[in-house]
Amino acid sequence: MGRLQKILIPFLGLVLAFWFYSARDTFKPEMLRGKRVIVTGASSGIGEQMAYHLARMGSHILVTARTEAKLQNVVQRCLELGAASARFVSGTMEDTAFAQHVVREAQTSLGGLDMLILNHVGASYFGFFDGDVEHVRKLLEINFLSYVAMTTSALPMLKESEGSIVVVSSMAGKVGFPFTVPYSATKFALDGFFSSLRQEFTIQSINVSITLCILGFIDTERAVRAAAEVLQERPAPRDECALEILKGAALRRRELYYRYSSTRLPLLLRDCAAELLDYLVRSRYR
Ligand code: NAP
Repeated sequence: MGRLQKILIPFLGLVLAFWFYSARDTFKPEMLRGKRVIVTGASSGIGEQMAYHLARMGSHILVTARTEAKLQNVVQRCLELGAASARFVSGTMEDTAFAQHVVREAQTSLGGLDMLILNHVGASYFGFFDGDVEHVRKLLEINFLSYVAMTTSALPMLKESEGSIVVVSSMAGKVGFPFTVPYSATKFALDGFFSSLRQEFTIQSINVSITLCILGFIDTERAVRAAAEVLQERPAPRDECALEILKGAALRRRELYYRYSSTRLPLLLRDCAAELLDYLVRSRYR
């Protein structure tokens, strides 16, 4: 009897723990129905796919990027797919005032905000660092400072809705990557800012979640054009990636890894075998 108790009680504990965590982890598309969401960089790639998933789930969507003609098509498709509403604002995130303007537009047209998805990325080169400091500065403005500006402007609305911030980053924002030095720097900056901000939210009992998304190689046009010939691995599908980001955001995860096998697993080496991880990163290139 005593031995049975010794086995049975821990076993029941494990079953209960598994049930509790898996119940907590269940994503349902209804979670995003009627939610007011901004998606930046939504004229192509992963951002465009996120807009379509949100549309199917019945969200109110505000998309932004520079190319108006592409955004018009995205909005049209979102409405066809069932979005509660869809609109766009076009402009460049090089300009902090534009980043703030997008958030004001959400306030005026949607009356508030539940989710801010920061996804846009400025163009950079693929090759050895060329010493161009101005390029680094410009990329920091687009990939980092505009994220900070939008978050700052959106925070009062997000506090009110107890909403979410989603930051789309990369493996190159967690470990040093060759040939994308300026890009990698901007993604590391995002981790520093948003992981620290999350700490402050906890201290101040601010119920706004921050999900940092660590992505591997995804089959968007830009990424495939830049890296398909030099990377050994096959890119993962952008529509699946977009859905995983939305699931992680709806479940208020602190970090999301996609694909897990090519991001989270190698990163486990970072603290115990950093040089091995560096070697593995370099060996991805032809
Ligand atoms: P993408 O297809 O090139 O899309 C980038 C988006 O950003 C476009 O909508 C683009 O639209 C917009 N954009 C570019 N410059 C802008 C500017 N100055 N102001 C405002 N918007 C601007 O990129 P993606 O591959 O989907 O990447 C999306 C996110 O995933 C990025 O944060 C990227 O770092 C991350 N990620 C991607 C991969 C990958 O392999 N694809 C891997 C890791 C992380 P306009 O040109 O119309 O402005």
